[in-house]
Amino acid sequence: MVKETKFYDLLGVTPNASEQELKKAYRKLALKYHPDKNPEAGDKFKEIAMAFEVLSDPKKRKIYDEGGEQALKEGTPGEGFSFHNPMDIFDMFFGGGGRSRGPRRGKDVVHQLGVTLEELYNGATRKLAVQKNVVCDKCEGRGGKAGAVQACSNCRGSGMEVHLRQLAPGMVQQIQTVCRNCQGQGEVINAKDRCKKCEGRKVNREKKILEVNIDKGMKDGQQIRFTGEGDQDPELEPGDIVIVLEEREHETFIRRSRDLILKLTINLNESLTGFKRVIGTLDQRSLLIESRPGEVIRHGSYKTVEHEGMPTYKNPFEKGRLIIHFTVEFPPTGFLSEKELKQLRKLLPPGQEVIVPDDAEETVMTEFDPEMDARQQRDERMRSQFGGRGGFMRAAAGGADSDDEDGAGGGQRVQCASS
Ligand SMILES: [Zn+2]
Ligand SMILES: [Zn+2]
Repeated sequence: MVKETKFYDLLGVTPNASEQELKKAYRKLALKYHPDKNPEAGDKFKEIAMAFEVLSDPKKRKIYDEGGEQALKEGTPGEGFSFHNPMDIFDMFFGGGGRSRGPRRGKDVVHQLGVTLEELYNGATRKLAVQKNVVCDKCEGRGGKAGAVQACSNCRGSGMEVHLRQLAPGMVQQIQTVCRNCQGQGEVINAKDRCKKCEGRKVNREKKILEVNIDKGMKDGQQIRFTGEGDQDPELEPGDIVIVLEEREHETFIRRSRDLILKLTINLNESLTGFKRVIGTLDQRSLLIESRPGEVIRHGSYKTVEHEGMPTYKNPFEKGRLIIHFTVEFPPTGFLSEKELKQLRKLLPPGQEVIVPDDAEETVMTEFDPEMDARQQRDERMRSQFGGRGGFMRAAAGGADSDDEDGAGGGQRVQCASS
């Protein structure tokens, strides 16, 4: 049991989420709420970075699970704890860090691309239209005629204006604002010399079509980098465009690394006497899947077909396995006739012979739903903890009987004891 679930809730995962699930959840949300893409999102980007930073570190996760956010703040003695900048978390995750060395570089731009399992199996080329800043070809990124660009006289090229405001005699507040004369650019261009194409902005917003090659065997979260294709700026080396693949759910197969998992439901008859199915593969072939003569397939069992899984990235002729997970459907609940019972008893292995002592007490079995029972037990605990105020509440769970099958939400039935 974890103490609180806030960080898990922020990422939309359960407290027993694996490292993979955490990464996937963070990736999705970080791209969605990145301030470049979603300026309205407020603190959401920061919050998910914080949650991910804690939960992705086994040591911090343990502290959080046991003691909640408060325990993180207190930290362990001699070892304080502070959160990183959410942008650094993002850069570390998407591999955009380390740009402090060398010439100044623009930011990497990250795009998410949804791909089908078929595309990842067969390989594909996808065209992706992106908007990016391109240095103006008309003025070669100067913003106007050669020599027309001058340092702003108002801010002396800094782009910032400083105002002094008197709060009280002898008390002055210094306020820094963006220069109104040059809009923070630090330079001005005479209206008549300004470049007609970019209107002095030095760059133009242009549409660019990227051809994204999806190789056989690529996987969810894999990155495809277009070096130097990020936004251009006359003073910066352009960053990269990073495409992050997002594998879409498939209606037949579940992918687990190189293996494909197929959930197959057969009925009791097929489980005992044999079954046959035709399965369409991701490259449009048909596979005949059948039990061997006389083979009994148990409920919950697994079988595998070699080389019918996903191709290996960079080595596509090597394929994983197709793993089949069987569900055996029993006949609908109810009672069989005496005649049917006789026939079945003849065919199936014999049941256990039992000698019933004279004083054995008869019982009646009713339906039991362990999930609902767990909910009721929890509700009851909550009530005994918090139910002190305004009347004592008692759960009816203890006296629940067989008419409990309606499945209604569990634990709602409470009664107030008269006081
Ligand atoms: Zn221009
Ligand atoms: Zn200025």
